[in-house]
Amino acid sequence: MEKNVIYLDNNATTRMADEVMDAMLPYFTSFYGNPSSIHSFGGQVHKKIEDARESLAALLNCYSDELAFTSCGTESDNAVIAGSLKMNSFRKKIITTQVEHPAIMGPCKKLQSMGYFVEYCPVDHMGRLRLDILSDIIDDTTALVSTMWANNETGTIFPVHEIAEIAHRHGALFHTDAVQAVGKIPIDLKESNIDFLSLSGHKFHAPKGIGALYIKRHTKFNPFMLGGHQEKGLRAGTENVPGIIAIGKAAELAAEHIKNSLNNMAELRDELEQKLIKVCPDARVNGDKERRVPNTTNISFEYIEGESILMMLNAHGIAASSGSACTTGSLEPSHVLRAMNVPYTAAHGSIRFSLSRYTSKEEINKVIDVTPSIVKRLREISPYGK
Ligand code: PLP
Repeated sequence: MEKNVIYLDNNATTRMADEVMDAMLPYFTSFYGNPSSIHSFGGQVHKKIEDARESLAALLNCYSDELAFTSCGTESDNAVIAGSLKMNSFRKKIITTQVEHPAIMGPCKKLQSMGYFVEYCPVDHMGRLRLDILSDIIDDTTALVSTMWANNETGTIFPVHEIAEIAHRHGALFHTDAVQAVGKIPIDLKESNIDFLSLSGHKFHAPKGIGALYIKRHTKFNPFMLGGHQEKGLRAGTENVPGIIAIGKAAELAAEHIKNSLNNMAELRDELEQKLIKVCPDARVNGDKERRVPNTTNISFEYIEGESILMMLNAHGIAASSGSACTTGSLEPSHVLRAMNVPYTAAHGSIRFSLSRYTSKEEINKVIDVTPSIVKRLREISPYGK
């Protein structure tokens, strides 16, 4: 395992916190009972699951009975999209956005192929949702509006409460994919009108393979996973106990760190962004700089390939990303940047740096140090001749 990597790909996944590892380990070896068992060996585990649910509920300020544990953000997203049309058979339409993660795009495309109607609301050049267009396309046949809370590529935050209000005015439910928002911005679901929310543990220092779905009290929900009675029938399947303990601990830590670490991250992110923009010619920030999660910047270095920049950063022990992790390997410019009408030459040269509370000033300084010479070198050999 590389110890000295400067890891700036935290929107793809995060390192597990040591405290999270310590909390979950005994649930592999000592407390391995099935929480559904009648005996107390299993029963004690059930109690710990409920404690973890309370911790996650505290981070989101919701009731713990509004949360069902799932295997990941993708599962939570799929469960809502698949279930929403079954809940109201008269409504045949879903509205989502052009910049969603494949975890939403995939199930939406599937529904389209089954004859349902899906509208993809556009964004403007800063990645802001066109609420005027949303208001035009929504109607009384809309079952669900699903928009992300924060974009995984640019960090741009959507006004989810306003969107939920528009959805409700037309009798539609509102879901938000908050995978990139939880742990990065304060969330208060008791004060919100959001019906469903998806989250994923590995984006905030829990391990991969654990997620959750928030379902507001009294909201109708048609479960996707059927089988046993786990999670009060909302999500069948024997619980991933170590993962649940882990996400509970990660939520506690996130709540503890939310103020200080967010300010620190934003400061480091801004410094990185400002210095690179200043020193590298033809560099620009993609996204809404005012309404953004504090850990993300997406910078286009025009006339060069993002993949080449990534490889050269990698040679310096720096891990970043071009576009979302799920589309890495594809030479198509990111669908998010295309939806924002970022010019082709800039979209191709876009790099996402995503920080975590573990990112240090020294690490950021090193990136500020090496990136301009990488950009200069690549420009010299660029076929665009810049
Ligand atoms: N939604 C968004 C916005 C994401 O960024 C991701 C992962 O990158 C997902 C959903 C999928 O989450 P998971 O990896 O837990 O399935």
